[in-house]
Amino acid sequence: MRPAILDPLFAEVTALKGIGPRFSKLFERLSGPLVIDLLWHAPIGLIDRRFHPKVAEARPDTIATLELIIDAHLPPSNPRQPYRVRCRDATGFLHLVFFHVKSDYLAELLPLGAVRVVSGRVERFNGLTQMTHPDHIIDPASGKTLPAIEPVYGLTQGLSLRLVQKAMGLALSRVVELAEWLDPEHRRRQNWPSWRAALHAVHAPESEDDLSRQNPARRRLAFDELLANQLALALMRDHTKRLPGRAIHAPGQLRAKVIDALPFRFTASQLQAMAEIGADMAAPTRMLRLLQGDVGSGKTVVALIAMLDAVEAGAQSLLMAPTEILARQHHANLNALAAPVGVEIALLTGREKGRARATLLEGLAAGRIPILVGTHALLEEDVVFKDLALAIIDEQHRFGVEQRVKIQSKGNGIDLLVMTATPIPRTLMLTSYGDLDASQLTEKPFGRPEITTRTLPAQRLEEVVLAVKRALDHGAKIYWICPLVEESEVSDMAAATLRYSELKERFGDAVGLVHGRLKAAEKDRIMEQFATGGIHLLVATTVVEVGVDVRDATIMVIEHAERFGLAQLHQLRGRVGRGDQPSTCLLLYAPPLSAPAKARLSILRESQDGFRIAEEDLRLRGAGEVLGTRQSGLPALHFADLTEHGDLLAAARDDARLILARDPELSSLRGQALRLLLHLFERDRAVRYLRSG
Ligand code: ADP
Ligand code: MG
Repeated sequence: MRPAILDPLFAEVTALKGIGPRFSKLFERLSGPLVIDLLWHAPIGLIDRRFHPKVAEARPDTIATLELIIDAHLPPSNPRQPYRVRCRDATGFLHLVFFHVKSDYLAELLPLGAVRVVSGRVERFNGLTQMTHPDHIIDPASGKTLPAIEPVYGLTQGLSLRLVQKAMGLALSRVVELAEWLDPEHRRRQNWPSWRAALHAVHAPESEDDLSRQNPARRRLAFDELLANQLALALMRDHTKRLPGRAIHAPGQLRAKVIDALPFRFTASQLQAMAEIGADMAAPTRMLRLLQGDVGSGKTVVALIAMLDAVEAGAQSLLMAPTEILARQHHANLNALAAPVGVEIALLTGREKGRARATLLEGLAAGRIPILVGTHALLEEDVVFKDLALAIIDEQHRFGVEQRVKIQSKGNGIDLLVMTATPIPRTLMLTSYGDLDASQLTEKPFGRPEITTRTLPAQRLEEVVLAVKRALDHGAKIYWICPLVEESEVSDMAAATLRYSELKERFGDAVGLVHGRLKAAEKDRIMEQFATGGIHLLVATTVVEVGVDVRDATIMVIEHAERFGLAQLHQLRGRVGRGDQPSTCLLLYAPPLSAPAKARLSILRESQDGFRIAEEDLRLRGAGEVLGTRQSGLPALHFADLTEHGDLLAAARDDARLILARDPELSSLRGQALRLLLHLFERDRAVRYLRSG
């Protein structure tokens, strides 16, 4: 499938000469398994070796290149001391310092009386001018020369800069000029180099300016990446939209009964979202829609209405959640909401086994079970529906695109609704969900109380404990979040287990503990006790982060709040203020706060608007981390930085649209080049949707 011209780039890094198999794991950790991954690993700095002082002019802590005569070898008097080689020029002495290096090797490398060019960082130690482990030592008579400027790469333990540079040089030598995929006019206006020239330029910075994301070579590569991303999304979307869908026509009696029984009125954005979803489902094409709304904005009932429409039309629906706890909670909530119509909603997670599971699968295949809720256990081969028409995925960013595709294969012309409680900044929406239509729940349901957020230094812990005591005396339910599971020697983080035993000593059996290492059943049992009131103070790690719903919890204490990301803190805080009681969030931090941590905490104090918080989060952290891209299967961007390349993203989106409008199968000459681009950024799936060209 992939054109052969790209094969050298898609070889393993260890295919490069001199990069042995023992480095395979290390390079994989550094950048990835392939040569192409390495090429995307851009320098983060440079070393300028053009400063050629005499010894007397060599200032400590500068990088200098000096021509020296080897004056004396000074082996150490005891093995813990370094080996020193004294060198000189007309202006003074400089010592080369070596730890754990064999003396005969040094004797050969630095023969007495010979001239050597050495380059490295100059130091002063005990009144001596010295250089520890020079970066370069060369014999000027050998004809070898030093690089004037070297790129500096982010490293991983076990890989030296020298080795990465060497591998990069070999990787670059595999890069051939590819047919240009950019619009020539656009490229000319932007003054961009060719792809190959851009890659070479990025890896050979000559000044700090060249390291900037706004450098033309970097901008070009960023644009390439965004264009591949936007083109792939557009192709996937076009492909899905062309597949036969089905029109779901529901008279609306089920929905009417459920709505009648609701103790509240819909918000305007819930009404709008339901209308948008209804229209998509009624249309003969497939729905591909994202339902975005902050925690507590009321997505569940919107999902239920859609599922009931499908059921009323005689088909089945499913809802998939990322965790066991969430699936169970959805199941319980949906059952409660659907009670007035008596539609069966079944549950399938990894824990349903044996007879029960078999019966459930039978009912599903026979069409007796109209709605199924579960975890990724729903994706298993033997989960077969009679007629699945609607799939809803909650918290999409925990699932990958692959799973989305898998779910769509469980029925014919399935409508897909993806729900996320993570408000996603507009820019990220485009790169991650650009193929989805979006509905947004922008308001909080009426009657939701305010959450008061306060920040306190950790020294005031005792005050917090006293406040917790008062609240417990009044019957409050309290979350207490700690960042780690167990006390570890290397960190001073408040550990959940330790804190749990301390609080338990104070408050007795009202205290419970949940963390990620508990078995799912145990976790559920404790959450259940918290929900029903057996436990009133729940010490937890971030396992409670997603979606857990205990309506009457009103206080959230977060220790070491400075260590959490903004979006995560916002999610955690969203666990309180879900009923009608005013609520409080106490953010404890360990001073001194770094500037970004201070910024995070103050944004949180000021705002409860998830979208604003998401934008700030993006600004403070950069796109890569916002959604936890690495774990999620979302595209990882190498060159493009959404906080700095917003203009390029917009241009890439427009370009992708224009390209596909003119050449939907990418069959023109430029189209062929664009196929290369898609392969280059591993959007092979998108190319598969094209007629072979
Ligand atoms: P989300 O899934 O978006 O986090 P939920 O759907 O779980 O939020 O809704 C949270 C709570 O708010 C639920 O108890 C739900 O029944 C209730 N709710 C939903 N819509 C409204 C509304 N318009 N007014 C008042 N309460 C609502
Ligand atoms: Mg929910």
